[in-house]
Amino acid sequence: MRKKVIAANWKMNKNRGEAEDYINKFLPLLGNINATDPEVIICPPFTSLQTLHDAVQGSYVKTGGQDIFWETSGAFTGEISAPMLTDCGCSYVIVGHSERRHILDESDYNINRKIKSSLAGALIPILCVGETLQERQNDLARQVVKDQMEKALLGIDITAGNLIVAYEPVWAIGTGVNASPDDAQDMIAFIREQLSQLYNPELASAIPILYGGSVKKANMHDFIIKADIDGALVGSASLDPREFSEIVRSVKNG
Ligand code: PEP
Repeated sequence: MRKKVIAANWKMNKNRGEAEDYINKFLPLLGNINATDPEVIICPPFTSLQTLHDAVQGSYVKTGGQDIFWETSGAFTGEISAPMLTDCGCSYVIVGHSERRHILDESDYNINRKIKSSLAGALIPILCVGETLQERQNDLARQVVKDQMEKALLGIDITAGNLIVAYEPVWAIGTGVNASPDDAQDMIAFIREQLSQLYNPELASAIPILYGGSVKKANMHDFIIKADIDGALVGSASLDPREFSEIVRSVKNG
């Protein structure tokens, strides 16, 4: 049985005070779902990581970075390494988010290097893949996602516990227009098939694969009941502690 995972991507939102305030509201709202299934992960901006980590002490909430650099230290202005993330208490890191791929021109090659450095640094990468609207309209969604998976994982050994994949169709991110649960299930089953071919069926069936793209409390249930969907990566709706706690509750009640 795969673990369910619900991850918040705060993007470039919330300073330290706001992060602390959020956790003070969020933890009591979790109530009796303060446990490791689902695994609840919050990924704030780098500048709020330590504050967030301190604030969640005593709870089961885990923290993660939104990006990572592939070297551990050196002359790389503006970058943050795996040891720096773990030093701030991170257990996870988002890699290959579409905003980084499309706004910051992040390449598959660099995403591969970031996955390698995450694993070498004892961080679990949340690898994001997904097609643009144009690619979907041109019937290229599967090819694009297959390519992203192969390139991101090239030469990398994974185990059941050290990878999470998030299927995030670019056209559904931050738009309020979510993929239909059937389409998300279809693509996520396809991703699991890719993992099976890249590794083996046992491993593929043990890796959590999340859906991301305009998830909110009103639609989480429709996704979590699908056979291959193990949770969600949530952007906008994770910024509100009450809304996010309801999304977690929906995953818990599955
Ligand atoms: C995301 O940023 O990963 C995301 C899914 O955003 P949103 O939930 O706002 O669509």
